[in-house]
Amino acid sequence: MIGRCTGKEVKKVAYKITEECISCGACEPECPNQAISEGETVYIIDPDKCTECVGAHESSQCADVCPVDTCVPDPEHAETKEQLLKKWRGLHPGEEPAPGTY
Ligand code: SF4
Ligand code: SF4
Repeated sequence: MIGRCTGKEVKKVAYKITEECISCGACEPECPNQAISEGETVYIIDPDKCTECVGAHESSQCADVCPVDTCVPDPEHAETKEQLLKKWRGLHPGEEPAPGTY
């Protein structure tokens, strides 16, 4: 099961957008890290900014709003929850992560 924490060493992963994206734009404003932008053919996620919503939300906002389920975990960007939280802290200096999101 990808993306769910059941122990210390469980890997989480950044999300990616597949070619089936219909470029509706619904996901872009929902990302707490401004990781989503319009690409040449479909919307894209910057893996250096995606924390799987760790630090901000209990679930991945892009996947929650996508009408065609094209925001999916990217196994090529597996990271631990601790790494994702560190990434979130780097993107939001001086802020505290929301309780229950990490
Ligand atoms: S999973 Fe969260 S942080 Fe990652 S791209 Fe989607 S909305 Fe942004
Ligand atoms: S919400 Fe889904 S279909 Fe719409 S732009 Fe984002 S990834 Fe593409």
